[in-house]
Amino acid sequence: MPLALYDTWSRTVRPFTPIHAGQVGMYCCGPTVYDHAHIGNLRTYVFEDILRRALMRNGYDVQHVVNITDVGHLTSDADEGEDKMEKSSRRTGQSAWAIARRYTEAFVADWRALRLLEPTVWCRATEHIAEQIAFIGELERAGYVYRTSDGLYFDTSKQDDYGYLARLDHAGLQPGKRVAIGSKKNVTDFALWKFSPVGVTRQMEWDSPWGRGFPGWHIECSAMSAKHLGIWFDIHCGGEDHIAVHHSNEIAQTQAAHGTRLANFWMHGHFLTLDADTKMSKSSGDFIRLQTLQTRKIDPVAYRYLCLTAHYRTKLHFSWASLDAAQTALNRLRHLYSGWPYGGLVDPGFAARFDAEVNEDLNLPRAVAVLWELVKSDLPPATLRATVDSFDTLLGLGLRDWRPIVSDIPENIRVLLSEREQARAERDWAKADSIRETLNAQGWRVEDSKEGQRLIGITPGPTEFGDE
Ligand code: AMP
Ligand code: ZN
Repeated sequence: MPLALYDTWSRTVRPFTPIHAGQVGMYCCGPTVYDHAHIGNLRTYVFEDILRRALMRNGYDVQHVVNITDVGHLTSDADEGEDKMEKSSRRTGQSAWAIARRYTEAFVADWRALRLLEPTVWCRATEHIAEQIAFIGELERAGYVYRTSDGLYFDTSKQDDYGYLARLDHAGLQPGKRVAIGSKKNVTDFALWKFSPVGVTRQMEWDSPWGRGFPGWHIECSAMSAKHLGIWFDIHCGGEDHIAVHHSNEIAQTQAAHGTRLANFWMHGHFLTLDADTKMSKSSGDFIRLQTLQTRKIDPVAYRYLCLTAHYRTKLHFSWASLDAAQTALNRLRHLYSGWPYGGLVDPGFAARFDAEVNEDLNLPRAVAVLWELVKSDLPPATLRATVDSFDTLLGLGLRDWRPIVSDIPENIRVLLSEREQARAERDWAKADSIRETLNAQGWRVEDSKEGQRLIGITPGPTEFGDE
């Protein structure tokens, strides 16, 4: 079954065909690095990682670009308030640059702990100021820009289909008593460039043809995706909150400058919620970090597993009980897997069922159910290992890399070890060697020393994606 994906633009699941044969360009809106990421943010990146792996599983070469927003994201999406970086700087007494560095590093550490594949390109907004200025220049030449006392704005009234991605109701958006629009002409207009306030030197500011200041938040994604993927690429992703404002504005900019809506597919991960419908949010301070899980002895990969048990287009209600259950399931899988021998072949029936679920708009909950059905089947253990191994290139649980702590040795391996100890005591070297080979075949290595035999770990298998 060929890959089909839900596209927010068309509101349908439709077959995926790449713009350039065999290749996929994918742009994912990354973190605003004024604070740690919470596990809600991370759910979105897990979804994007699964998407990337699904594309790779379908044979595509994926160019995966993730941006780091280190300037320009204001405390209100309506272009008011302070820059989140400068605010954090004021609160902590550290420079905005130091904060950006610190939280970018923390973010990349979370990324790796969740076993997310490294993007092809990480790009920082502050390293693409020239590209953003050039993009605003194009918008100005095309007649979409006006100036107010505090910056340059995009005039959304010039686009009939502005906000189509979000199916915005223009009639309901006219400025009324309830909506403050400041000096903007229309409620939905947004900042492209903000001037540094008179008499104030910002920590992050640059010269531009319009005056000293800093770029608005949306322009970075239009400019950086154009630079790294071209002006018309395959898939643009982000969390569902981006549909109404950020992604609608990215589309408006690229449409105005280049006549394309950036991406062929627009895909959005739904929120992780805390209780009832409260989304977890960084700005409210009410959030759980990956490290919080670790202090409760929960493995980051268990959180990854939890994410796989909910479809990316449904809300995931977080609870400690569901996370504990995910940890238990993952532990069970790891133990079973490490007891299975190498040398089998992938079972084609289960593989086809697994792929069909993945290719149907990333139905991971059903793909995980197929995995457990396989594990409980009576197929030979070597077949189980080979098949689960192949599934894990998509799931990314890192089963091959997992090393049990010594008390965690599976029962069948324990039995072999004690048989071998017995054989050594009886000086039956042939039998001891043969058991050693059996252990090797199951991925375990045993060494003999004066103190007796020592299990020193699993022989590493080939890496997940060859040399990548
Ligand atoms: P931010 O760092 O706030 O710019 O957000 C980074 C990413 O996380 C964006 O793609 C957001 O849409 C996404 N996001 C924010 N809150 C949540 C949440 N509670 N659950 C899932 N994704 C989220
Ligand atoms: Zn973006």
